[in-house]
Formats: sequence, C-alpha cells, structure tokens
Amino acid sequence: MAEPDPTLPEAPAGRPELQQAAVACLTFPGLGFQLEGASVAGVETWLRVQAWSLAIDVGRSPEVVARCKYLALTHAHMDHAGGLGQYLALRKLYAMGPSTVFAPAEACDDLRAIVQAWERLQGSPFPWTLQPMRPGDELPIGKSRWLRALATHHVVPALGYAVVERPHRLKAEFAGLPPETLRELALRGETVSTAVERIRLAVSGDTRIQALHDAPELQHAEVMALEATFLDDRRTPAHAHLGGHVHLDEWIARAELLQGQWLVPYHVSQIYSAREALRVIRERLPEALAVRTRALLPGEREPV
Ligand SMILES: [Zn+2]
Repeated sequence: MAEPDPTLPEAPAGRPELQQAAVACLTFPGLGFQLEGASVAGVETWLRVQAWSLAIDVGRSPEVVARCKYLALTHAHMDHAGGLGQYLALRKLYAMGPSTVFAPAEACDDLRAIVQAWERLQGSPFPWTLQPMRPGDELPIGKSRWLRALATHHVVPALGYAVVERPHRLKAEFAGLPPETLRELALRGETVSTAVERIRLAVSGDTRIQALHDAPELQHAEVMALEATFLDDRRTPAHAHLGGHVHLDEWIARAELLQGQWLVPYHVSQIYSAREALRVIRERLPEALAVRTRALLPGEREPV
C-alpha cells in the first residue's frame, strides 16, 4: 500500500471509508429486489436497483451505476449529480446503449448545457434522453413499472421518486373459481380482476420533513428511503431545516406517518462514522420503527 501523501488534508473525522465510498446492499425478504448504494451527505450519493436497471442520483458514477439504463436525479447538487458526465461516458465506453435521465424540470437546461460541453470536449455525443419531471409526473421505466415524481422541499429545485407497479388481482367475488370459468367470464366481457397500485420503492432525495406529509408514497411504500442527515443533538432539527434536510428527531416525532414495510435512513452526515450512525439509529428509533429499519450504511445487518 502506498504511503499517505502528507500534503493532502486528512479525511473528515471518523469517516475513513470516505477515501473509497463504502457500498451498502440491503435485501428485503419477499420483495424481490435489493437496494444498493453509497451515501454520505455533501460527498456522494447514489442508489440503484439492479433488477429494474434504475439508479437514483449519481454523486459519482461507479460502473454499477453506469450499468443502469434509467437514472433519476433528485436535484443537481454536486454530491447527487456530479457523476452525470461520467455515467454517460461509461455507458458509451461499454456500448451499453441509450439511457434516460429524469431530472427536476428547473434543472434541465443547465444539465443539458453541462452535458453538451462534455460532448464537445469528448468529441462525440452521448446517446441519452433528458426527461424533465414535475411533481406527479409518471413515466414508464420498463414494461410494467413506472417512475413517479414526488414533491419535496430542498434549498434548490428537487424531487423524490416512487417506483410504481400495477399488478392485476382477482376481484374478491371471483376468488376460488377455476381458471377455465374465469376465462369464460372474461370472454363474456366480465371484468374479473382489477389493477392494484403497489409503491415498490419511494426515495425522498434531499428534503425537509414536509415531504413526508405531502407524499403518501413515502408514507406507504414497501421500501421507503428517507434522508436522515443528522441523527442526534450534535445538530438540531432547526439546523437540518435550514439546510433543507431531515433530522432523526423528525422521524421519531412522525412515527405514525412511517407506515411502509421497510424504512431506509440514508444521506447521513460525515460527522458520524458509519458504525456510529448505525448505533445511534438503532438506539434512538422507537422499537416499532427500529424493527423495520435498514439503514443505507456499510455494516448494516441482514434482516432476521
Ligand atoms: Zn442537496
């Protein structure tokens, strides 16, 4: 291993893993997807669901993010969007085909200009589509899955995102009928099933806690990732609010809104080491929340 360069500043206290962003990979029994990512507030945030070829934010772009065909940017702060050029360049390098990048509408002119500058510097265009999004917009990502933009409250234009599926379920009155009878009924024009909306994943992006009140998707998602930049009295909720962020105190005060199956705190400040953050989250969350919580931090345990 090389000697450390004494002319370089040391990594911020307590986060040696900042030298190489440590990736967390969360599994959720029975849900059929994993949520992977690295997230340190102000430094780097990206999440991805490989099964859906979807990444959310690209503070830096490791190859695993570049492998995602869809990229949803919550906002254009550098630690969330700074890896966009690298994402596009890596996809081109590996001939991974065109990608679609979703972003808050207000940020799109500047993002397009940045990418156009990179294209000139690279000497060739990137195969990508930039899709402006506003709260409530919903667009397909794949055959039977949609990406919905959620209103959030940060210090620059920002969005959260929900991944929505609408599987058909048999109506209660037809439960238990044999398949051939159901087929006959359907042929006669009877509607035997209805589409049920499933919010598979909701991700807040950077936001004040108000987003949790405004977006039922965040309250009820099967997996809900809500930022928790500050965790204890080293910073106050007022401090978090000022920066457009959430404090863990605000999670605790709104436990009744956190009704999703799994809760994922992420975007923790670098004033906490990952190990310390996991300990504080476990100690501070009430039991009813703690048992459903998997933090997006390296070292998080598998659910039992
Ligand atoms: Zn931000």
